[in-house]
Amino acid sequence: MNLKMKRRDFLKVMGWTGAGVAVAACDRPSYITHREGRNHVVSYVMPEEYAIPGTGVWYASTCGQCPATCGVHARVREGRVLKLEGNPDSPLNKGKLCAMGQAALQTHYNPDRITRPRKRQGAGFVDIGWDEAMRLLEERVGPNSGIDGSRFAWLTDSVNGHQAVLVDALMENIGSSSHYVYEAVNDAVWRAVCRDMLGEENPRLAIDKARAILTIGADFLGTRGAPVPNSTLYAEFRSAPRGVLLAAESKMSVTGANADLWVPVRPGAEGVFALGVANVLATSHGRDISSLPNDVQRQIRANDVKHVSDVTGASEEHIRRIAALLHERAPSLVLAGASAEGQEHGYDNVAAAMTLNLILGNVGRTIESTAGFPFEMLRPRSGSGRGLADLAQALREKRHDVLFIKGANPVFTAPAGMGFRELLANVPFKVAFSMFEDETTQLADLVLPLYSHLEDWGTHVPVAQPERMFIAVQQPVMAPLYPETRGFGDLMIDMLRMRGDADYAGYEDYYAYLHHAFVALPASLKGGAPNDTAFWNGVLQKGQLELGTAAPARLAASAVSFEVSAPAADDRPVLLPTASPTLWDGRHANVPWLQELPDAISKAVWDSWAEMHPSTARRLGGVETGDVLRISSDQGSLEVRAYVYKGMHPGAIAIPVGQGHESYGRYAQGRGVNPYAILADVRDRKTGELAHSATRVDVSLVRKASNGHHLGTGMDRLVVMGGSETQVGRKLVVTVTADRFERTEGRRA
Ligand code: SF4
Repeated sequence: MNLKMKRRDFLKVMGWTGAGVAVAACDRPSYITHREGRNHVVSYVMPEEYAIPGTGVWYASTCGQCPATCGVHARVREGRVLKLEGNPDSPLNKGKLCAMGQAALQTHYNPDRITRPRKRQGAGFVDIGWDEAMRLLEERVGPNSGIDGSRFAWLTDSVNGHQAVLVDALMENIGSSSHYVYEAVNDAVWRAVCRDMLGEENPRLAIDKARAILTIGADFLGTRGAPVPNSTLYAEFRSAPRGVLLAAESKMSVTGANADLWVPVRPGAEGVFALGVANVLATSHGRDISSLPNDVQRQIRANDVKHVSDVTGASEEHIRRIAALLHERAPSLVLAGASAEGQEHGYDNVAAAMTLNLILGNVGRTIESTAGFPFEMLRPRSGSGRGLADLAQALREKRHDVLFIKGANPVFTAPAGMGFRELLANVPFKVAFSMFEDETTQLADLVLPLYSHLEDWGTHVPVAQPERMFIAVQQPVMAPLYPETRGFGDLMIDMLRMRGDADYAGYEDYYAYLHHAFVALPASLKGGAPNDTAFWNGVLQKGQLELGTAAPARLAASAVSFEVSAPAADDRPVLLPTASPTLWDGRHANVPWLQELPDAISKAVWDSWAEMHPSTARRLGGVETGDVLRISSDQGSLEVRAYVYKGMHPGAIAIPVGQGHESYGRYAQGRGVNPYAILADVRDRKTGELAHSATRVDVSLVRKASNGHHLGTGMDRLVVMGGSETQVGRKLVVTVTADRFERTEGRRA
């Protein structure tokens, strides 16, 4: 059966029925209805019959803390959500949940949520009601507003599922094609290389099937792609026979810290490093490179191991060892990310890394096609830096009169060199759909307060479908905390109805729309459910619609030409703004649990720091951890404490992103520094993506740590939760080599 339907067809097949109501069972996933979801929070004088005081009810839903769309189970007692866990039925995260997912409770219960609509009044805001908010919207984008569709634009983070369908529908109705999709933490350059070399932007990375993985800066266990799903696959990769993890990067990431071999590489020289590995594969292990384009073959031959060692700083022995392990342990997998992508020649660096996958025969073995997902219109519109760069250009040319903003905070995350804050003033009417007053929301003319994802309906589709395809369902797990907040989907339906869109006239709200979208599906997708109510209840209880396994499809691997170059000689270190698996791009800086969680490398909390190699610290006159540094670029300067650490290349200095908020609530404001605030606006020359790892900085010592105390718990120190970084010979944590492990497991004599 051909299940590919256009959005309009998808809607046409739906008939109208009443909203489903069902009773939930205790101690297993269930759901509440939109009607219950409309109630205000009151004590349980007349609880639902399944709400037994003191006994939790578990609801299945979807995590909204990052774009990965993991399944969750939410424990609810007396109408309040108390605990989140991973949904074991999810083929994506298989019952696991990361710290960001767990901390969604503090996003939901955050005391700094916006609780009523607001409109601009002078330099500040004044609270208004929804009637006035909708009237203001109608004046600007209603059917009689006279808006020229090309003057209307959306700026969102990654969107998918039916929320994306509704955004598309509103754009189509208004006559706009300007949807800018932006994520500060993204893998857009990798996706562009995958599209050009594999024919698919988001192939499945079969981490579990690899016997050796080389990551060139891709922190797939931390912030790259889908951290929890990647970690579940990684656990299988590390099960016997244990796979070997190799990492080559400028700053030790969470993934690098787990590697069997970690090799520091000069920032910007990642492509040269990949060519060096390719050279050894061809010259020492007989790997065939004759099918590659001539210019690629020429570059591989020119980058012998000695030259590559000189350029990258990696030792010849390490380059040879990595090549040997990748050759011996087929199938392998080579990934690239972060500083490799964040350069003017980021595309070339990543293409060089992907060429290793071609040489090693990994395509189709550990890099798999995800073709076969039947609902193209639900697929993610994944964010990129290019999305913001394009919007900045449009704002410079004053091309938009109305800008709707959701899920993105570019005033905080845009590189300073872009001047985004000033550009935003070129839009006469800015509407922020937001839970919090972040730096971008602060500049809006109208603020529409949203439900948390624990209060709202939605559907989600992962970027790369697992082998068992599915659509994740997000259902409210408790009634909204604030009666004057609204669901995003509800607002979209309201606006489409306001615009007179006949396709949406029959839907009372987003719940009704979603319910109909599901019950209208072909019987073949309903798993033999006896009727629509049973089918819908089953979907909600599982938190997903399972779509079966796609027929295997082949990726059309083809090499591309690229031109890798060595980074220019410069004594100034490269600034690496590093995303964190807790604060992400800064969106979780208002969550105390995540502020309190020690950084995986420095163990620092509630603050910023600058990681540097001991040799860099010596060059600066003996900088020690806790000393205050000034870090300056052409865009400005900031002061931050040093963290001296060997897990850095001497040519780089790394500051985590996420801190340095000027607004965003009591837990986020006024702590740490924002490295984006001194970044130049550099672009990858092939994709136009923002190059976040291409700004050189001057570093100077401002003052030594007070009283000789470098670390500790005082206000004038870098607060770290860890003690010594060495075991001082005490063998507190016993380690074993992969070789010895294999012998112990009886897999080798
Ligand atoms: S990776 Fe973590 S934050 Fe992202 S969706 Fe999964 S559990 Fe949520």
